[in-house]
Amino acid sequence: MTTTSRTAVVTGAARGIGADVAKRLAADGFAVAAVDLDEAACKTVVEAIEGAGGRALAVGVDVSDENGVQAAVERIAAELGEPAVLVNNAGITRDNLLFKMSVDDWDAVMDVHLRGSFLMARAVQGYMTKAGWGRIVNLSSTSALGNRGQANYAAAKAGLQGFTKTLALELGRFGVTANAIAPGFIETEMTAATAERMGVPFEELKAGAAAQIPVGRTGKPEDIAHAVSFLAGEGAGFVSGQVLYVAGGPQA
Ligand code: NAP
Repeated sequence: MTTTSRTAVVTGAARGIGADVAKRLAADGFAVAAVDLDEAACKTVVEAIEGAGGRALAVGVDVSDENGVQAAVERIAAELGEPAVLVNNAGITRDNLLFKMSVDDWDAVMDVHLRGSFLMARAVQGYMTKAGWGRIVNLSSTSALGNRGQANYAAAKAGLQGFTKTLALELGRFGVTANAIAPGFIETEMTAATAERMGVPFEELKAGAAAQIPVGRTGKPEDIAHAVSFLAGEGAGFVSGQVLYVAGGPQA
């Protein structure tokens, strides 16, 4: 394993895509702060990283809590190192058709994806601009293009694309890039929960999705971790403000 003094912060790192991203960035040589609602839930990821010879810190915070985010980022800077990479991955779904969608469903999704990404980016940007180097990667989705039953989630994921492009414009001169990854169907607890909500066995939902995907399979968290690894790397310094669809086909 290569070593670096750089620190990466991954939100929603306790499971799913975030857990794989955290482990991949650690394998790339970053010290990794695994951030999630429940600090104890990040233990497995932290132990896996440390077991492989890396450095990691579990941090429990709700990314939509302004004071909590500020305190969490300050703790990461003090205990692990000043953030050089931020991956805004924490996410939730509250799917419903528009006429049945509650204000709470709308607000909850906006709070985690948009407010959370804004608060995290605002809290880390000072360290990155001071260092003259930084990488911000925001998790969008193919749902940004529109998805039945996801008016809230689609709006948030499309909003993250505009947010990303604006960060790229503002922070580029300080050596900080900002990009978005828009995954298609990835096998995680989020998509398993969607299957359950629809009353369809997960295997059936996956098979149906795979049949529509040009490469003939659904995605896995490591597919997204690989793309994050590229965008977080030294060599990607001239890639900024982009939305990379990682969906097994030309989704955009
Ligand atoms: P997941 O398995 O549901 O994991 C999401 C993680 O985020 C969970 O550990 C969750 O914690 C955490 N989280 C939720 N709200 C949070 C908050 N307010 N503060 C901190 N952490 C919070 O989801 P995933 O499938 O890995 O998705 C990861 C990201 O990729 C999300 O942004 C999602 O929208 C996006 N994405 C996923 C897919 C897909 O097909 N899976 C496709 C496109 C985009 P708890 O367990 O405590 O709730």
